[in-house]
Amino acid sequence: MSTNTLIPLNRNAAEFISKPKKMLINGKWVEALSGETSQTYNPATGEVITSVAKGGKEDIDRAVNAARKAFEEGPWPKLKPNERAKLLLKLADLLDENAEEIAHLETLENGRSVKFSSAMAPNAAGHFRYYAGWATRLTGETIPTSRPGDVFNYTRREPIGVCGAINPWNGPFMAAVMKLAAPLSTGNTVVLKPASETPLGTLRLGELIQEAGFPDGVVNIVTGPGSTLGNALTLHPEVDKIAFTGSTDVGKQIMKNCAETIKKVTLELGGKSAHIIFADADYEVALKNAANAIFMNSGQVCFAGSRLFVEGKIYDKFVADLADYAKTYKLGNGFDPETILGPVISAKQKQSVLNYIDIGQSEGAEVITGGDAAEDGLIQGYYVKPTVLGNVRNDMKIAQDEIFGPVVAAIPFHSVEEVIEMANKSIYGLGGGICTTDVRKAHKVAHAMRTGNVWVNTYSLVDPASPFGGYKQSGIGRENGSAAIDAYTEIKNVWINLD
Ligand code: NAP
Ligand code: MG
Repeated sequence: MSTNTLIPLNRNAAEFISKPKKMLINGKWVEALSGETSQTYNPATGEVITSVAKGGKEDIDRAVNAARKAFEEGPWPKLKPNERAKLLLKLADLLDENAEEIAHLETLENGRSVKFSSAMAPNAAGHFRYYAGWATRLTGETIPTSRPGDVFNYTRREPIGVCGAINPWNGPFMAAVMKLAAPLSTGNTVVLKPASETPLGTLRLGELIQEAGFPDGVVNIVTGPGSTLGNALTLHPEVDKIAFTGSTDVGKQIMKNCAETIKKVTLELGGKSAHIIFADADYEVALKNAANAIFMNSGQVCFAGSRLFVEGKIYDKFVADLADYAKTYKLGNGFDPETILGPVISAKQKQSVLNYIDIGQSEGAEVITGGDAAEDGLIQGYYVKPTVLGNVRNDMKIAQDEIFGPVVAAIPFHSVEEVIEMANKSIYGLGGGICTTDVRKAHKVAHAMRTGNVWVNTYSLVDPASPFGGYKQSGIGRENGSAAIDAYTEIKNVWINLD
C-alpha cells in the first residue's frame, strides 16, 4: 500500500469543483426546475467533492425539446458535413489542451489512478478525430435493381434524430465521448445522462463542447437519478434512439421502455469474460495479461477477464504466481503517483464485492490472495484487495455473476473442447482472451467463443476504429468503427422513375 504525497489537484479542476454544478440544456447552464441538488463523493476518501443539480422528469422534457428543436431547426441541420467535422476537430484540440484537468476530474470522481486517467483526454481526442473523418464519408449506394432501364435506385444515410444516452460510473469520461462522437458526426442531437456517482467529467466535456462552437441544444446533459430520468428519457415520444451502457438488469428495463415507441436501441451491458491460458503460452506474458485483464480499474471494467481458465498442467503454479503478482499492485488514492489500483466506486460496491467473496468461499472456492478490504491508512475510502479465488467451478455463482470488482475466479481445464464449452456457458458474451503460442489454436478458439471481442496474447485493447460490443445478454449493437455509423443513421432508399 502506498502513502506518498499526493499529486496536487489541477488548478482548473479545483476551480471547476469549487462551484455547484448545473446541467447543460439548450446551450445554457441551468439548475433543476425543482431546485434540488445532490452530492458527489471521492471514492478514495469518502469526502464530498461538490454538489450537482438533481434533475427530474421536467428537466428531461426541457432537454429533449431543445434537442428536437436543434435537430429540426437552426444551424445544425444546415451544417455541411465538413463543418460538422471541423467542430469535432476543434473539440479534439480542446481536449488535448485540457488533458490534465480532465484526467484529474476522472481520478477524483471515479478513483482510477492518474497514471491511467492521463491517457484519457488524448484517447478521447483521437476518438473525436476518427469520427470527424466519418462526417464527410457518409455515402449511400446506387443499387442495380431488376428493372435497370426504368428506375434509378439509391440510398442515403440520414441521422436518426434525438438520441438519448445513459452512462455508468466505471469509465465515465470515455463513455460520454463514445456516446457523442458517432452521433454528432452523423448529424444527430443528444441528451446525455451520466451516472449519479460520476457526472463531473461529462459536465466539463459539455463546457468544451460549447467552447468548440456546437449550436445550442445539439448536446444536452441532464444529471440526476437514473430511476426517474431514465424512465423519462426512454419513454419520451420525441426521443428516436437510446444508447445505454450499464448493467444488464437496467438494460432489460430500457429495452421494454423503448418498445413503447419502437425506439432504436443499442445496449452495452455486463460481462463475465473468459480468459483462457493454455500451457503452451508465453508464461510471463500470460501472467501479466491475466492479472491486468481483471485488476485494472479495480475490476470495474465491463470486459474484465473475470473468469480465468488455466490449463490443468500449469493451473496450481499459475494461480500461485498470479496471487504473488496481485500482491505487487500498489493500492491507494489515485493521486498517489505510485498507485496502480484505486478504490472501488462506493461503499455499496465495496460491500457487494466482499459479499461475493463470502459467497465464493461458501461455495467451496479458496481465497489464494486478497479476500478482504484494505486497511493501513485506507480505512476511509472504498478499497478491496486484488483477490484470486482458486478451486472454482464454472457453475458456481462467483463464476457466473458479474462481480465488478478486483476478484478473479480461476478454473482449471483439460482440453480445447472442454474450455470452449465452459467459456460459452455464461449468459454474457462481451470480452474474451486467449494466451497461446499456437496460431491454429488461437484462431480456432477465437472463432468458437460466443463473445463480441477476443484478445489473443493481449487484453483490453480498444480503438475508435474497432467495433466493440456484446453477444447474448452483454448487449445489442456495437460502438466504435463503422458499426457506430450504422447505429446512428437511418438508411433511406429512393426510387426515381426514369420511364
Ligand atoms: P447501472 O446501475 O445499470 O447504471 C447505469 C446508468 O443507468 C446510470 O446512469 C444509472 O443512473 C442509470 N439507471 C439506473 N436505473 C435506471 C433505469 N431504471 N432506467 C434508465 N436508467 C437507469 O450500472 P452501473 O452500476 O452504473 O455500472 C455498472 C454496470 O455497467 C456493470 O454491470 C458493467 O458491466 C456495466 N458496464 C458495461 C459496459 C459496456 O460497454 N458493456 C461499460 C461499462 C459498464 P444512476 O447512476 O443515477 O443510478
Ligand atoms: Mg448503479
